[in-house]
Amino acid sequence: MFSVRKKLNNSTKARDPLNTFQKTLTSNGLLLDRGITSTLQINIGHLCNLACKHCHVEAGPGRQEVMSRQTMDDVIHFARNNSFSVIDITGGAPEIVPDIAYLLENLCPLASKIMMRSNLVALLEGNSGKLLDLCQQLKIALVVSFPSTNRGQADAQRGEGVWDKSISMLKKLNGLGYGLKGTGLDLYLVSNPAGAFLPVDQCTAERKFKGDLARKWGIEFTALYTFANIPLGRFKKWLEKSGNYDAYMQKLRSSFNPETVEGLMCRSLINISWDGYLYDCDFNMAAGLPYSGEPVHISEIKVLENGAPVMTDDYCFACTAGTGFT
Ligand code: SF4
Repeated sequence: MFSVRKKLNNSTKARDPLNTFQKTLTSNGLLLDRGITSTLQINIGHLCNLACKHCHVEAGPGRQEVMSRQTMDDVIHFARNNSFSVIDITGGAPEIVPDIAYLLENLCPLASKIMMRSNLVALLEGNSGKLLDLCQQLKIALVVSFPSTNRGQADAQRGEGVWDKSISMLKKLNGLGYGLKGTGLDLYLVSNPAGAFLPVDQCTAERKFKGDLARKWGIEFTALYTFANIPLGRFKKWLEKSGNYDAYMQKLRSSFNPETVEGLMCRSLINISWDGYLYDCDFNMAAGLPYSGEPVHISEIKVLENGAPVMTDDYCFACTAGTGFT
């Protein structure tokens, strides 16, 4: 069983071995390496119908990158050869990737929990009715972006009119049984701050979201996840443009909590990019920092080894700030 251990050697790899995150781990006597990999996260494309201001992938309508059927087959083969308890499909907007139904149907027997990320709005478009039926039938858990119960804040981050469409879709999902107790159809909401500050405590935020959504719109959901914005991609550009980058990084560094390191998702998750390459997490994927430091394609690897070092850079401080991002 994997656990955080005191630093025994210098094996934790980093793009810059002297990056501040690495130094902070070392000064706290910590080593960040991989344990049993129980979650397979698949980023199936950067194509999205929205272009949110905080997106670390810089997904949007103009992006062409989507996973091919061949790469999907490689991923399915990889999932068969390894034992994952959770498979997490993200993007971009997975809902609008061609062959998403093929991927879901083939992955479903291979893990006890399959999750699909959604921005909610994409589920209202095109052929999404059939996809929702399939998700319901396969009991795919939906993890949906819903940054705020405040229309103005949410629209400022995600685009004009997105909040109203999101509320409509949440009602529709409740109508299908998503988010309701006893249905086995999990509906998780994801919230992130509108600017260069840390999120409020997850339990407090969940109580507020549950109360507001139930009282004002009769909406229920399973649980809320809150996370800090990662200083990468579009959010990093905004931080730099607005003159907030240094102050935000300083806030993340000064909020470093060594207690979060044991539960970091990179210890138990492997990420596969739309073109089939391996990364320790979706953030390293967005930053172009590959698993093990060298590009490794899914078709070249059969099983994952425990104990491999995790690649790090200074944006990792967003995962260890406050109560952390696990
Ligand atoms: S960004 Fe977070 S999840 Fe990714 S390697 Fe760094 S600490 Fe781990």
